[in-house]
Amino acid sequence: MAQCNYVIVGGGQAGCRAALALRDADRNGKIVLIGAESHPPYERPALSKGVLKGSALPQSVIIRQLDQLAEMAIETHLGQAVEQIDVASSEVVLDDSRRLKFDRLLLATGSRARSLSVPGVNLLNIHSLRTLDDCLALSESLQSCQKLVVVGAGFIGLEVAASARERFGCQVTVVEAGSGVLQRAAPDELRSAVQTLHKSNGVHFLFNDGVSRFEGDSKLEHVILASGRVLKADCVVIGIGVIPETRLAERAGLEVDDGIVVDEFGETSQPNIFAAGEVTRHKNLFLGAPTRRESWQVAQNQSTIAAHAMSGLRKAYNEIPWFWTDQFGHNFQLIGETGPTLQRVTRIYDGALKSTTFFLDKQAVAGAQSVNSGKDIRLVREAIRRGMNITPEQLADPTVNLKSHLVRDPVLW
Ligand SMILES: Cc1cc2nc3c(=O)[nH]c(=O)nc-3n(C[C@H](O)[C@H](O)[C@H](O)COP(=O)(O)OP(=O)(O)OC[C@H]3O[C@@H](n4cnc5c(N)ncnc54)[C@H](O)[C@@H]3O)c2cc1C
Repeated sequence: MAQCNYVIVGGGQAGCRAALALRDADRNGKIVLIGAESHPPYERPALSKGVLKGSALPQSVIIRQLDQLAEMAIETHLGQAVEQIDVASSEVVLDDSRRLKFDRLLLATGSRARSLSVPGVNLLNIHSLRTLDDCLALSESLQSCQKLVVVGAGFIGLEVAASARERFGCQVTVVEAGSGVLQRAAPDELRSAVQTLHKSNGVHFLFNDGVSRFEGDSKLEHVILASGRVLKADCVVIGIGVIPETRLAERAGLEVDDGIVVDEFGETSQPNIFAAGEVTRHKNLFLGAPTRRESWQVAQNQSTIAAHAMSGLRKAYNEIPWFWTDQFGHNFQLIGETGPTLQRVTRIYDGALKSTTFFLDKQAVAGAQSVNSGKDIRLVREAIRRGMNITPEQLADPTVNLKSHLVRDPVLW
């Protein structure tokens, strides 16, 4: 059988996981991994946590070293970008004009950090946090930072605020255009627990305000807010979300809708071209409607599904969404459905900072949020899959053993 040429664009978590899964699925295939960043493939979650806090080494985020990939006959081109996909000739064009042929192509191009288009945004000590290089540059700036302003109270902004407070003891002010933290991404219970935690650790919040300009003489000195308020600052981190990196796909005429549109196997609107990870608007059978998720879980698992489909093993992506964040030494997790219309039942183990809130849909466990009680998340995943015979009163009672209430004969999913 002729050797299949697999080309992967994007050397992040999804691209690397797909390359490893392809090697597993096709021992003879030619696998080429092309990444614009010069580092070996790495995971990003620790960048705003352990690595920024100095409790984890930068190299600890690397998934596979280049020699390990070479041993698996995975060819890597790092520090190189793919500039064009020639669909007609099934080739990609690199930034040095070389052309590489593909039989199956995977786009795992992730996202880029959203920036602020205001005067002074290019001053020194204004950062965003997307890459390992961003993290190292930010750590450098924070060494001599007394006053840090974080723009945006999303997960990354808040993790940076916590890590900067914990490691560098900076005075931290978080400026947020909305009226509270984590507005797009979390249920009320989690939002208030996180906001209270930050306030109790000295983080100062300015809500319903935004940045109108940055001032300084080559180096940042002041942040001028839309309200007219002036903040003295040594360093700024802009954490206002990401933009999916779809430009390559758009130029190639692939269907894009706030992400590269793929089916439950990871295939795009163009046969033999697949996409994976954070850049995708993908079908997850558990959720029904197509979705785009900025999560470790999607980069890890949806990429494996796409790789298997590229090698001919078609198994639909079907996963209960899960996400975590660590802030000020506390672990918060979300799983399944946690929408505002669902009934909530909170089980308190030890005050506000050790509890689980269960989200019920017509008495059935549909999701949960945990605060330092991650063990419940594994049980909730089982409960969503298999069902759980339990009353809200029993759910709320920390002495009740949840596991014993799982349905014995799993409901086929
Ligand atoms: C600071 C931070 C903290 C996070 N914390 C958490 C967390 O606690 N929990 C959680 O679940 N998720 C977290 N996430 C989200 C999670 O890490 C991402 O969803 C995941 O990294 C996405 O992986 P990816 O491979 O799809 O995309 P990316 O990691 O963005 O990788 C895409 C790669 O493709 C490259 N590329 C783009 N275009 C081209 C091109 N034309 N040619 C060649 N290469 C190209 C890019 O340079 C990049 O290296 C965090 C993310 C960040 C940034």
